[in-house]
Amino acid sequence: MTAEPPTRTTPSGAVASTRSDTDEVRVSMNAAPGESGGSASARRCRLNPRAHPHSHGHARGPQRQPTPEPRPSDSGEQDSGDPGASLSELRCLFRWLQKSLPFLVILSAKLVIQHALGLAVGVGLVTTFFHVNKSIQMQVFLQGRHEKLHCVWLLLLLVSSTLLLYYTFLPQSLYNCLVFLSPTIEPLGFWEVLWAVGITNFILKFLFMGIKCLLLLLPTLLVNHQTQGRWLLLSEELAQTYQAVAPAPLWFRYLVTYQEADGAPALTVGVLLALLYLVLKLLGLYGQWTSLIKAARIFLKNERAGLAATRSQCAESGDICPICQGEYREPQALVCQHVFCDECIALWCNREKSCPLCRTVITDKVHKWRDGATSPHLQIY
Ligand SMILES: [Zn+2]
Ligand SMILES: [Zn+2]
Repeated sequence: MTAEPPTRTTPSGAVASTRSDTDEVRVSMNAAPGESGGSASARRCRLNPRAHPHSHGHARGPQRQPTPEPRPSDSGEQDSGDPGASLSELRCLFRWLQKSLPFLVILSAKLVIQHALGLAVGVGLVTTFFHVNKSIQMQVFLQGRHEKLHCVWLLLLLVSSTLLLYYTFLPQSLYNCLVFLSPTIEPLGFWEVLWAVGITNFILKFLFMGIKCLLLLLPTLLVNHQTQGRWLLLSEELAQTYQAVAPAPLWFRYLVTYQEADGAPALTVGVLLALLYLVLKLLGLYGQWTSLIKAARIFLKNERAGLAATRSQCAESGDICPICQGEYREPQALVCQHVFCDECIALWCNREKSCPLCRTVITDKVHKWRDGATSPHLQIY
């Protein structure tokens, strides 16, 4: 390893190594008086005994092309040296980790105790979100058979957890973030912004999940299975747009803020970073906006999976819907001529894009939010 830099960089070293091919005794003699390159190559010879017979063999043969020979042995040495070095570094790191493990355990215990409330809030929010999200999807899937009481319970759960959270952190006035204002946390550092943004994201999810619960509670005369899917899709797209905008003022303020002591350069850099963030945000919002417009178009257009089926088409399929195994309600015939109830095939199309019987593609895109799902994506910036 130590021999590498001199033999490659200094021209004198190169001369020395050429000579080592022709006559090794002369190399060590030449190098000894003070040339670092020479001494290094001599050391290399001592370190690597395999190099001796190799170079001797060539020394005895015709001396027409002496220079190219040392290169392979050089590179070979380098290749065999590197993995060993990285392995020993890894071993060092492992030993360090092994030694400091007890301290790391003590430190993490301290951090857990210090932030116990924050961690409990995080776990509570995540479990509430996943429970309510799954329950809403189940209630949408059950359609006419869904329990209104369960929807009321979900709504109460969402409202009470939101109120409890805001009450617990009342001095921070985190609810300000919902209307693009700053919370009263001073100073507003990185972790404080992350905290406020994370909480706001969850509360916005809860808010729109509450709206979905209300949609499920509305009588079927107002919202039937067809319109319900479109309402759910639109509310989810609106929720995602809101969630994308909500953290922007907080991060902008954080990036622009600077300490008086840092002076003008810090302010300039801060403004520049905040502008870059705005550009990034606007690009992201443009994508979100197009998908919201698409959702609005679907909302206004009452498109169905197929066309109303005739009596003969229903009779041909045995007058029984293959999905619900009951009599047809508003039968719809798909392009493949398979007939299903309107409600059954609408529910199927919330998740799949092909016919349940023959797998013929009936729609080009699955509008996944129609099944009442809420995106678990945590919008932190
Ligand atoms: Zn059916
Ligand atoms: Zn089919």
